[in-house]
Amino acid sequence: MPAPLKILVVEDDSAIRRLLRGALARGDYAVVEAGSVREALSALAIDKPDAVLLDLGLPDRDGIEAIGLLKAGGAAVLVVSARTDTAEKVAALDLGADDYLVKPFDTDELLARLRTALRHRLGARALSDRVEIGAIVIDLAHRRVTRAGAEVHLSPKEYGVLAELARFPDRVIRHTVILREVWGPAHEDALDYLRIVIRNLRQKLEDDPARPRLIRNEPGVGYRLQG
Ligand code: CA
Repeated sequence: MPAPLKILVVEDDSAIRRLLRGALARGDYAVVEAGSVREALSALAIDKPDAVLLDLGLPDRDGIEAIGLLKAGGAAVLVVSARTDTAEKVAALDLGADDYLVKPFDTDELLARLRTALRHRLGARALSDRVEIGAIVIDLAHRRVTRAGAEVHLSPKEYGVLAELARFPDRVIRHTVILREVWGPAHEDALDYLRIVIRNLRQKLEDDPARPRLIRNEPGVGYRLQG
């Protein structure tokens, strides 16, 4: 199974850290924690996170001063701060922060904004507008799928599920994440909906739908598009 995306949480308040850890685990991320800027920079070098959630009021230095250093490591940086001052937000974004969330935050919103930041950040590497796997071409920019050059007609839900998988080829995307993104948060447990759509997609895209090679099962976890 490919490694999950890694998120570095820089936060000196242990209660908030625990809350973030729980939310990130729910989103299928691996979590690394730091309680100061110094710890964050060492975790950045050692763990090479894909994204950083950065508090600003830290014991050794102001988080604002760390944004540039963290960005230089190639990670997406989302500031998560109690400071509501617009000037502070603008400063953080000017220094290269990808997003800014004010505490107290809604964890679903945090996960949604993290996904967006990661998509932008990983753009060149994982999110291509055009995913080609064997005879299948998924054109995410034009919402068009072809098989050996012929257009494959997909329902909106079929396309939605395929696009979720195609954004991160070779990564396992959790059932709940796909359901939330395609059907909405109220349906994140509606595994039957997802199974039906996956079956239809396999009928339309796989050489042998009974032995799927394109859309792989990770039992009990999710699906993965074979890249
Ligand atoms: Ca703090």
